[in-house]
Amino acid sequence: MSMTPAMAYRIPSDTEIIQAIRDVLDRYGAISSQRKLTKLVLRSLHRHDSEYTVSEERVRRLAIANDLATIEIRCRETKDKTSAGSCPVCGGKTARIKNLTVYGGSVTMGYRCRTCGYWTGLRNRVPTLYVFSPKS
Ligand SMILES: [Zn+2]
Repeated sequence: MSMTPAMAYRIPSDTEIIQAIRDVLDRYGAISSQRKLTKLVLRSLHRHDSEYTVSEERVRRLAIANDLATIEIRCRETKDKTSAGSCPVCGGKTARIKNLTVYGGSVTMGYRCRTCGYWTGLRNRVPTLYVFSPKS
């Protein structure tokens, strides 16, 4: 029979993370990457519990879902074709960007997320950097 190893870390609640994101943005203003934001959020969380851990993606998604920051999304275009699906930035639904044709139909030019503003053309754009600024 194997022993269950002791947890070496603990998971903070959404509320705790949201408060930490607010604190960090209040204190530091614009933050130039998701990694930096997460590092600062973690530092803030560690004042409450030194074993807390949080992923960059969870911090980003909570910041967007709770409208805590203005987020600038930088992307690079790949050679891959874009396919319909959920938003890679926030997990939200994407809508087709349509262009009307002279024949009365429409063609898909890409996809846009209504929640966070991420968009891609027919060549898939992959997010590479996020800049977080406090809401004014
Ligand atoms: Zn999105």
